[in-house]
Amino acid sequence: MSGEVPARVQAIYDEVLHRNPGETEFHQAVREVLESLAVVLDRHSEYTEMKTVQRICEPERQIIFRVPWQDDRGEVWINRGFRVEFNSALGPYKGGLRFHPSVNLGIVKFLGFEQIFKNALTGMPIGGGKGGSDFDPKGRSDAEIMRFCQSFMTELYRHLGEYTDVPAGDIGVGAREIGYLFGQYKRITNRYESGVLTGKGLGWGGALVRTEATGYGAAFFAEAMMDVRGESFDGRRVVVSGSGNVAVYGIEKVHQLGGTVVACSDSGGYVVDEKGIDLDLLKQVKEFERGRISDYAERRDSASFVAGGSIWDVPCDVAIPSATQNELDGDAAAVLGRNGCRYVVEGANMPATPSAVKAFREAGVLFAPGKAANAGGVATSALEMQQNASRDRWTFEHSEARLADIMRDIHARCHETAEEYGSPGDLVLGANVAGFIQVAEAVHAHGLI
Ligand code: NDP
Repeated sequence: MSGEVPARVQAIYDEVLHRNPGETEFHQAVREVLESLAVVLDRHSEYTEMKTVQRICEPERQIIFRVPWQDDRGEVWINRGFRVEFNSALGPYKGGLRFHPSVNLGIVKFLGFEQIFKNALTGMPIGGGKGGSDFDPKGRSDAEIMRFCQSFMTELYRHLGEYTDVPAGDIGVGAREIGYLFGQYKRITNRYESGVLTGKGLGWGGALVRTEATGYGAAFFAEAMMDVRGESFDGRRVVVSGSGNVAVYGIEKVHQLGGTVVACSDSGGYVVDEKGIDLDLLKQVKEFERGRISDYAERRDSASFVAGGSIWDVPCDVAIPSATQNELDGDAAAVLGRNGCRYVVEGANMPATPSAVKAFREAGVLFAPGKAANAGGVATSALEMQQNASRDRWTFEHSEARLADIMRDIHARCHETAEEYGSPGDLVLGANVAGFIQVAEAVHAHGLI
């Protein structure tokens, strides 16, 4: 872990371990927040009296369900579906759905827990939740994906609603899946309830910039971090892991801001392209053909593919891990530091392990946690809900300007809160404390529920 659990919160952490056995990612996420909260409890005795932290660590509701479906050959499959409605102090539960074979309750709970504070940091009226399934969409036909989504929604629909719970995409869930999920919700409920899902297609209730928002937002956040040191993306070498939604649009915005992304990856390996990643080719391979990153290297002379290995061996000034949790460990962090990296910005949720975060702190690498840096996606989802509610549609420029403002505000809040609580430059503490206090105040105001 990145530090000691302060004595003040040790008992709370022990209780979380006891109540949630085996859920290692959830333990990790809770511990990382608790490490920041001792200073808050010193100033707010009411949170201790009312067990506010303990209540926030316990989901309001956890739903686990069977998802049976048939593949194209007629074979029957049974997956498990999850929705953890973690906290609704600030608004309806909001958070994505992940379809990936690694999904289990502990992973959904870690993501849902992080989502509570992330959503608070956006300043939007949204609570925290997360869901998904251990379904593996890789290699499945469109018809199979549709049948799975329909079966998944046939149970999930009864728990959703624009004022109750509003899912979105995440790993393995993009516009295609949101379309099938929305279609089934509409069919069962007989309601065209646009605000029940975000990440919708642009022709039927989706919002401009939602697709780009998480990646763009992470780049805007990085820009704000550099600005504090009087620096910018101009001429910087950048490495972005992953080549999915967050990575692709993170790369796009870094290039627009003057940086050069020289490497990206998927679960099969990474490509290094010293001329800078060719975004059109990357989109063609990953978004349109649903191909592998190795296909990119085959079609581009300046690129080489490394199977397996660590993308963090590629020297860079800025690293934006944008694939999945715990993809950047202490050893990789040490390599990044030795190679002169100065900024690490989490595009994914919890991609840096606790020992990596500790190594960055010790090496003076400025580090931004995902709950702050990747909040642009959910913030733009809230803008999508706003447009749905008012039957309005904003331009790309207006939406992007809102996103840029939101990311600068989140950065300022984290930066200022870290200073206020005696840890200047510690954006982890800043994000945890600012997000927690906002949620805790609302929890407190609602009484003992
Ligand atoms: P996508 O499914 O679009 O892309 C995920 C990318 O990460 C793919 O390139 C995938 O490679 C790679 N990847 C996934 N798992 C692994 C693994 N175990 N090892 C190596 N690479 C892996 O997902 P998103 O881009 O939407 O999400 C990426 C991260 O960002 C996640 O942590 C998600 O929770 C987070 N996030 C996403 C938001 C969004 O708006 N989309 C919002 C906030 C956070 P492959 O294709 O080979 O599996």
